[in-house]
Amino acid sequence: MRLKDRVAVITGAANGIGLATARKFADEGAILVLCDVQQEALDRALAGLLPRSPQSSAHRVDVTKRAEVDAMVQAVLARHGRIDVLVNNAGITRDARLQKMTEEQFDQVIDVNLKGVFHCTQAVVGPMLERGSGVILNASSVVGLYGNFGQTNYAATKAGVIGFTRTWARELGPKGIRVNAVCPGFIATDILSTIPEKVLERMRESCWLHRLGQPEEIANIYAFLASDEASYVNGVALEASGGMSL
Ligand code: NAD
Repeated sequence: MRLKDRVAVITGAANGIGLATARKFADEGAILVLCDVQQEALDRALAGLLPRSPQSSAHRVDVTKRAEVDAMVQAVLARHGRIDVLVNNAGITRDARLQKMTEEQFDQVIDVNLKGVFHCTQAVVGPMLERGSGVILNASSVVGLYGNFGQTNYAATKAGVIGFTRTWARELGPKGIRVNAVCPGFIATDILSTIPEKVLERMRESCWLHRLGQPEEIANIYAFLASDEASYVNGVALEASGGMSL
């Protein structure tokens, strides 16, 4: 119960790593605020979590829309009086090689993966500063560290998230708020659904565990970083890729 009664906002919580993180946080005693654009998946996620965490709630929030983010934060503060943890997990891909990437593909990924993280963090940081405590966790990627074929837009956002993390760790650390990023390798979720099997096989071989990661393996890291066990960890971009960089 490392997160007992902590109020944790998770974006992109209806599927994949976000949902696994919500489940793990619920097991650790947290009160979940699930945010996503997919209403049906969100309802399913909440229904599954309520037995473990009865005070949890779900909010249809598009992280690219500042007004929706602000409304969610106001609703959470009205109900719980605080936000202890923010997991900036929502993310999308719109892959194409540099010469074929459209401006729309570029802008969509920047809006969700980068601007969405900015919106959500700016919206929760005021209440966290008032209390002098909080944890912000950002979803980066190995692609933000090493780049990836066909992912100009995505790689830029995931590298940008590391820039956010290191900047906010400096700005907010002295005020009691820790900020860290996680850089997963290739994790078996819907985000990989458009990747051909041949490429997936190369992904498996690219790391020294020779397999894809599971969402729960990333959720465990978020739970550690959100907890007091990580009380001296600030400003890191923690790679969890089965040893891709070796
Ligand atoms: P996923 O596609 O399974 O889940 C992403 C969730 O984000 C979805 O539920 C989606 O509806 C939600 N979402 C999308 N746009 C949104 C918006 N505008 N506002 C709110 N929610 C929105 O993806 P995943 O694999 O679980 O990825 C989660 C995060 O981890 C992403 O930031 C992704 O970039 C990152 N990541 C994933 C992998 C991987 O291999 N799966 C690797 C590295 C990093």
